[in-house]
Amino acid sequence: PSPPSSVIIIGAGVSGLSAAKVLAENGIGDLLILEASDRIGGRIRKEKFGDVSVELGAGWIAGVGGKESNPVWEIAAKLGLRTCFSDYSNARYNIYDRSGKIFPSGIAADSYKKAVDSAIQKLKGLESNCVEDATNRTDFTLTPKTPIELAIDFILHDFEMAEVEPISTYVDFGEREFLVADERGYEYLLYKMAEEFLFTSEGKILDNRLKLNKVVRELQHSRNGVTVRTEDGCVFEADYVILSASIGVLQSDLISFRPPLPRWKTEAIEKCDVMVYTKIFLKFPYKFWPCGPGKEFFIYAHERRGYYTFWQHMENAYPGSNILVVTLTNDESKRVESQSDEETLKEAMVVLRDMFGSDIPDATDILVPRWWNNRFQRCSYSNYPMISNNQVINDIKAPVGRIFFTGEHTSERFNGYVHGGHLAGIDTSKAVLEEMRKDERQKGKQNQNF
Ligand code: FAD
Repeated sequence: PSPPSSVIIIGAGVSGLSAAKVLAENGIGDLLILEASDRIGGRIRKEKFGDVSVELGAGWIAGVGGKESNPVWEIAAKLGLRTCFSDYSNARYNIYDRSGKIFPSGIAADSYKKAVDSAIQKLKGLESNCVEDATNRTDFTLTPKTPIELAIDFILHDFEMAEVEPISTYVDFGEREFLVADERGYEYLLYKMAEEFLFTSEGKILDNRLKLNKVVRELQHSRNGVTVRTEDGCVFEADYVILSASIGVLQSDLISFRPPLPRWKTEAIEKCDVMVYTKIFLKFPYKFWPCGPGKEFFIYAHERRGYYTFWQHMENAYPGSNILVVTLTNDESKRVESQSDEETLKEAMVVLRDMFGSDIPDATDILVPRWWNNRFQRCSYSNYPMISNNQVINDIKAPVGRIFFTGEHTSERFNGYVHGGHLAGIDTSKAVLEEMRKDERQKGKQNQNF
């Protein structure tokens, strides 16, 4: 019999590790995980800030309490990860204008309803225009103009799309979301997952099947196997490769392919929008914002869409931490990533003083993650167009010869989420195992013919 196949997995985020675990459990001993950074976890990453752990990447387990059980929620529950329930629906009743006044709840609810109706109309319009005649588009929708309309448009489209269109995560797994508030971090899930198949000691992974600081730059592939070259000049060979780098990385020139990827593949990769989502953490000497029920999230209405719009206090997660988080997306994220943290701090303080008055204290610390400028990420997550045909995602996922693709962006139903990455990793490794079996059968037939 031929020797068992070897697999190289590129990337040690949730999808790469989930894939590796399934392969290890299926007897694939010749396994190597190459990770560009100096840690596992990828877009799941905690950092100490003030006295607590904050999540720079994924923060919530989204989709809980529904008819099916979210696998990530199950793992978290088994490990006793500390989480707290987040109720976003209150945010719309805590919308501040620039003079610090909260919009009356009637006005806020009304604006919110109009925005949802308008987004639903727009979606319907797009759907019917898609099927009928793309040139005959009618604009059914109101364009948001006032600060409150812009703020609501931002939270609807950059956060809560579930109210506008059904999202599989919430339909299948339930509408509840839980914030991970555990000193060990969301990444604890991944360490525990790795522990099940990699050798660890005292919480450290000491297994030479995982190589950190290995930046893959080239994949040379043929019918016989794949040769992987890393930035530091190492060369690795395997029968199959599973590539879990993000869609942002695939759109960049970090990894080259020899022969190049076919056109259907590169075109699909280019078609996928990427979302940049930045949580900025600010530490204060004391609290000056309202706490208590219904106050966890609040919104700043400014004439510039997405300008320090969405705020959260961390008192529910970590009482007494005196930390605020503000979320920026896309162009605002990129703008802030390119300026100094001092400038960002100044901007955020002006916004907070608009909302809470001039006598609030300055923040004593700021943390600004830079997902866009991180060449191993180049995005926060994939963002398929609202009306996207499944062909794009199927093409992004489809293997090219012996190179298989995985990652949240390859999950048809759950892209953008941790559970999407996890389930995609499992799916891709099963596809590789199936391919190995096919290979074996073919080799068997050839041997019989001799
Ligand atoms: P990654 O975690 O990106 O793993 C890919 C790995 O590949 C990385 O470790 C990277 O370093 C490595 N790599 C890249 N290029 C190379 C190379 N050339 N050579 C070697 N290694 C390479 N999801 C939720 O469910 N809930 C949330 O609340 C949530 N919030 C988010 C907030 C932010 C700010 C971000 C950034 C993401 C958020 N997500 C959330 C999405 C979630 O984090 C991702 O969907 C998931 O972690 C992606 O996992 P992955 O394995 O597909 O990719």
